[in-house]
Parts: sequence; structure tokens; C-alpha cells
Amino acid sequence: MIPVAFDYQKAKTVDEAIAALSGGDSKILAGGHSLLPAMKLRLSQPAKLVDIGGIAALKGIKEEDGEIVIGAATTHADIAGNKLIKNYLPFFAEAASVIGDLQVRNYGTIGGSLAHADPAADWPALVLASNAAIEVQGSKGKRRIKATEFFTGLFSNSLQDGEIIIAIRIPLPAEGTKTSYQKFAQPASRFAIVGCAVMRTADGKTNIAFTGVSDNAFRDSGAENAVSGKPLTEEAITASVEAAISGMNVLGDNFASDEYRRHLAKVYLKKALKAVS
Ligand code: FAD
Repeated sequence: MIPVAFDYQKAKTVDEAIAALSGGDSKILAGGHSLLPAMKLRLSQPAKLVDIGGIAALKGIKEEDGEIVIGAATTHADIAGNKLIKNYLPFFAEAASVIGDLQVRNYGTIGGSLAHADPAADWPALVLASNAAIEVQGSKGKRRIKATEFFTGLFSNSLQDGEIIIAIRIPLPAEGTKTSYQKFAQPASRFAIVGCAVMRTADGKTNIAFTGVSDNAFRDSGAENAVSGKPLTEEAITASVEAAISGMNVLGDNFASDEYRRHLAKVYLKKALKAVS
């Protein structure tokens, strides 16, 4: 449980962090709650860690140009307690408050979670359901990646070498939008065996995203089409539940078989749809 030797650099700015990442086998260190366990198990053996925990520009939550902007190094605990989040994106606060335990929430960051792209992490479902963009910066400048194009497989994403997530940008939800995040948690770690995030506007446009179910979190267009723009009647909810997880490769492990996970996903979708009706 001891990692191989590595160099350590604490960056003061994003530019300094990007420069430190170039050349050599370096990795960003944020909250360390996914990276350090992987290093202790020697699943990850970077030659250098570039600590972004002291970069003020990567922390905090603000409203800007019609978007909620969450700095990548903002902790789960800070998101759970934030007034803007509670007001505009209450399911972000719900999800943040049930991540791991107090220590994980006080150290772990939203940017670290998205970059790590654990199939059982909570944030991927939330950024997908809220039409978020992941803002990244590298040596060639900044770009935005739509959440729907960010998660590419098991622990994989569309970041290019040397790019850092700097913020998560979520369009301000329209008046009357309702949200819900429902999770069946692994009882020890609290990771999602199944997590379902739903955002529904006043005129019925409904976004549905799952985590925990497959190699990476995903939007479920079959489930969405069954309820989008329609009243959330029992029949519509049943149709959505029946359509959900169609054609997906569902994970099975010692916590939940693929058949049980598929069943749970439908149960948790139903709970989320009821919560926004
Ligand atoms: P780190 O561990 O520092 O980094 C993780 C990876 O992301 C590394 O590869 C790192 O290089 C990269 N990285 C970090 N920040 C950036 C960035 N800004 N740009 C580019 N790359 C970056 N998660 C859940 O979702 N739900 C849970 O219930 C849950 N329970 C947990 C329980 C325990 C006991 C533990 C230890 C972890 C749990 N987690 C859970 C994971 C936790 O949320 C992690 O903190 C999170 O996944 C990673 O965030 P971090 O800031 O710790 O990142």
C-alpha cells in the first residue's frame, strides 16, 4: 500500500499547472481521493504529481453569462452547501451530500471526479442531465466539451494530453424546472450501484441520465422520448421505465448482477420521475 516514488509540484496558477504537465509522465492531484488509492495499489504510477489544490481560480461557484459556473477544484461539500446550487440546481446539492463520507466530501472535487470517470461516480449523471459543458484548458488554450461527448468508456474521457478541467458550466435552468437525483448506493463506499438524474422543464422537456449502470454514464434517449413534452401520467412514467436501458451493456459484479442492476435502474428512474412530477 505504498506508492512508487514520485516528484511533487504545487502549482499557483492554471498556466503553471499546464506547463508542469508538459513533458514526462505527470498527473494532476486535486482531492487525491481517487488518485492516491490507485497509486497505493500501484494501478497508477505517475513520475510527478502537479497539485492544483492551491489555485484559487479553480475554486468556487458563480453565476456568469446565463450559466452556473463551478470551478473544477470545488469540493463536493462546498457544492452541497452552496446557495446558488440549492436554488438553481437542487439535484447537484442532493447528489453532493450523498457522496462517500464527510472526509471524501471535504477533499474530493467535482473536476477530479469527472476526470477520473469512474463508472459508479455520481457527478457524470448530473452533468449529463443538466446539459453541462466541461471547460478545459491546455497549452493550445481553452475549449468546451459537451458532457454528452466527455465520457468515452470505463475510466475514460475526451481530455487530450496536458489538458486540465477548469470549470463545469451549466446553463441556468428555466423558471419552473424540477430536478431529482436518486441513488442506490453501495453501503460501504456510497458509490452508485445505480444513480439516476432527471431534469424536467415546466414545458415537459425531460433529460434522463444514468450512472453505475454501464461502462460510463449516459443519457437515455428512449426513456426521455417517452415522457418529454408529455404530462407525467402513470402511463407515461411506465412507458419511460419500460423503454429505459434498452440495448445497453449493463455491468454485473459482486455487488449487483447485470439483471439486478437493470431492474434497479428502472426502479430508480421511476422514483426520479415521480419526484419531478
Ligand atoms: P483526484 O483523486 O485528485 O484525481 C482523480 C483523477 O482525476 C486523477 O487522474 C487526476 O490526475 C485527475 N484530475 C483531478 N482533477 C483534475 C482536473 N481539474 N483536470 C484534469 N484532471 C484532473 N465518488 C462518488 O461519485 N460517489 C461516492 O459515493 C464516492 N464515495 C467514495 C468513497 C471513498 C471511501 C472514496 C475514497 C472515494 C469516493 N468517491 C466517490 C470518489 C471521490 O468523489 C473522489 O474524490 C473523486 O472521484 C475524485 O476527485 P479528487 O478531487 O479526489 O481527484
